[in-house]
Amino acid sequence: MKWRWEFLTVSEFEVALERSGRVAMIPIGSLETHGPHLPLGNDGLTIGKIADMVAQIEPVVVLPTLFYTQSYQAKLHPGALCIHAELLTALLENICEEAYRNGFEKIVLLHGHGGNTPAMEGFLRILADKGKPYSLYSIPPWAGMGEFIDQIKETENVGHACEIETSISLYLFPEGVNMEAVRGKVFPKQEELDVSPASTPVDWMATWPEGPMGDPSKATIEKGEKLVQKWVEVIVDILRRIKNDTVVPKLMRQLREAK
Ligand SMILES: [Zn+2]
Repeated sequence: MKWRWEFLTVSEFEVALERSGRVAMIPIGSLETHGPHLPLGNDGLTIGKIADMVAQIEPVVVLPTLFYTQSYQAKLHPGALCIHAELLTALLENICEEAYRNGFEKIVLLHGHGGNTPAMEGFLRILADKGKPYSLYSIPPWAGMGEFIDQIKETENVGHACEIETSISLYLFPEGVNMEAVRGKVFPKQEELDVSPASTPVDWMATWPEGPMGDPSKATIEKGEKLVQKWVEVIVDILRRIKNDTVVPKLMRQLREAK
């Protein structure tokens, strides 16, 4: 069965709405440097495919992948397309309103790009404060994967365009990966910024000035297959618990009535 909003006909849409339990999912990526070997849209390409695989196991209507998001630190490299935080928040709110108007009562933000998650935390709070009649859930990149990644990885530094992310891309879209560009190349960590545990708006670029982390040449399709299977499994589990959840809808209703 088809679960992608953009591929459904009107009558298929009505069936998918009911069969999903009125739950929609928005895959959210980015357009930014992923080093010399991965495409700029890597996060959206990845998370869109993960969402499609999840929907085949646990019914959920998947909205078109959102590539236009936040990646302001990546503006230091060519190809970044960064949407202002206020505009991104307004756009996502508008998309959620439209999903609700079409009958969805729970909306899941499925993140493929870590740079969006701080803004999303703010977004969730803004919508709760507005007393929206639908429930929102936000799943960060590689959610619940920490221990599994530790078992798989051969290199220490992972997180962006690294051994792990490159393995996943090699498995999902090998045609978009150029491993020759990272043969024998390691992206070292810079320790120059010394204000921890204070955080700054430029932590990533201060620590990883080239963008990628560690040694992506250690990526393999086999690692990618295991990582993707686990990632899908974890999200299916979270999605099932979201479907069963009655707490968030109740509290959102109370917040709305408290206004
Ligand atoms: Zn990425």
